[in-house]
Amino acid sequence: MKLVLTAIHIKASPRAMPLGPAMCAAVLRRAFGEEIQTRILDLFLDQPAVECADRILESDPDHVGFSMYVWNRGLTLEIASVLKQRRPGLVIFAGGPEATADQAGVLADPAMDFVLAGEGEELIVETVGRLLKGATPQEIAASARPIPLKDLATLPSPFLDGTLRLADYSGALWELSRGCPFTCDFCFESRGAAGIRRVPLDRVEAELDLFAASGIREVFVLDPTFNYHKATAKQVLQLIAVRAPDIHFFFEIRSEFIDREMAGLFAGIRCSLQIGLQSAHDEVLRNIGRSFDPADFEAKILLLHNADVTYGFDLIYGLPGDSLEGFRASLDFAMSLVPNHLDVFCLSVFPGTRLAETAPALNLEHEACNPYQVIASPTFSRENIALAARIAHGCDVFYNHGKAVPWFDIIMEALEMSPSEVFERFAPWLESHPSEDLTQTQRDFIGSLFEERGNSLMGSIAADIISYFGYSAELMDARPMESDRQDPPSRRVAFNHDPVDLLAQMQAGTISLEELVFSLPGKACDVVLSVNDGTIGIQALHVP
Ligand code: SF4
Repeated sequence: MKLVLTAIHIKASPRAMPLGPAMCAAVLRRAFGEEIQTRILDLFLDQPAVECADRILESDPDHVGFSMYVWNRGLTLEIASVLKQRRPGLVIFAGGPEATADQAGVLADPAMDFVLAGEGEELIVETVGRLLKGATPQEIAASARPIPLKDLATLPSPFLDGTLRLADYSGALWELSRGCPFTCDFCFESRGAAGIRRVPLDRVEAELDLFAASGIREVFVLDPTFNYHKATAKQVLQLIAVRAPDIHFFFEIRSEFIDREMAGLFAGIRCSLQIGLQSAHDEVLRNIGRSFDPADFEAKILLLHNADVTYGFDLIYGLPGDSLEGFRASLDFAMSLVPNHLDVFCLSVFPGTRLAETAPALNLEHEACNPYQVIASPTFSRENIALAARIAHGCDVFYNHGKAVPWFDIIMEALEMSPSEVFERFAPWLESHPSEDLTQTQRDFIGSLFEERGNSLMGSIAADIISYFGYSAELMDARPMESDRQDPPSRRVAFNHDPVDLLAQMQAGTISLEELVFSLPGKACDVVLSVNDGTIGIQALHVP
């Protein structure tokens, strides 16, 4: 049997690794050896369906399996349709979260022969075994049932058995456990049947050693709540510190389980943490099966902040019982805890979730197909959803892409504006002032707010702060790899004040614009910013 297992990624990135297909390929190889020739194929959302079909048919398969997510469902079904037109005898099936959530809907597509719902590994071995014994695709479609995996230790590692060659990827996806003990109504994970199961620690160690030896730079831990079992999480962090200190790890964690020791262990490795806040209102979160203790959340985040750990939050607008004002307050609460980034999403009512069942009773109006977003609720009008989307966009561009963390607070304090207000004003500004230079856009926008307040002097200092940090961040991002023999990147920048003096005063503790107005003399100058040994150098070009 010749089988192609495809992963359709959103875009080329360090996260674009076909871990699901590789897990299936590894168990198939172990079960059937050379009887099954499995090829894993990486495809991307921006590829036309015909081109994807050509790539799949290159290896002349007789079976093709798709790993289906909400965002690749459309392209998957298009490719399946092209494949069926070209090779009517080809057997096509889908697995993955979207196929699991909407099994009947996916199976209703004429190009789809069967769906493997739930965890794939044991089910694909059983299914291929049946196909080899002569079962028809129709028989599989009628009888395939999810087989929850009881013990992850029974699975081969696709890294250790060579199914996935790390040299082919710039980052790795890493699964240390499956399942989530929480029951958030909007999330498909809460429907997991088999509870939390963990990969044995000896395999974790062996995979870490392989990652470190491969030279891979980023690892994305897939566990939805990495730190739920505190002792295990700490053991893994200790192993990373010793065995893979040069790799940057990304974790999703819950704030409840952070303690001082854990914060210290996160601080001891290269990592970024993502924490699901969703809303700062307990009464709203209770509508979706969560709860919230603001004092505990703040205390836990403070542990991370004081340990100098990089963290970001997720926030959702359109939750049942929430309002535009409630969402603004949640956003301002999140920003008060100085996240490195804030990812804001519209609530989606995904098929298969508990929320999909309760949405009619909650009077949640939502899209019927991908991305299933909320359109309106009794407390969140259609117009206010649009306004929240504008705030979310302003936040993403101004704060996340604009890397505003180092200067955001000092400038907000001087403007006496809330973050949600600033983001709401920024979104239309962005549309009417299109530019490739985001730092310049931020400068001009903030300058316009100070102009409104009749305080252009403060605005000119704010502009210098934004320029210094914005262009420095760009230069650091553009740094060549150590192995490259290129000149370090540099940039000429115009300032209203001597940037060396400005930085010295900020480092000495003058961190309000009000004070800087009195202590920093105006001095228009052009300087060259450049990266030297991982730090930013400032060279004056001209002092009038
Ligand atoms: S949102 Fe997070 S905590 Fe809640 S069920 Fe999903 S994975 Fe678990």
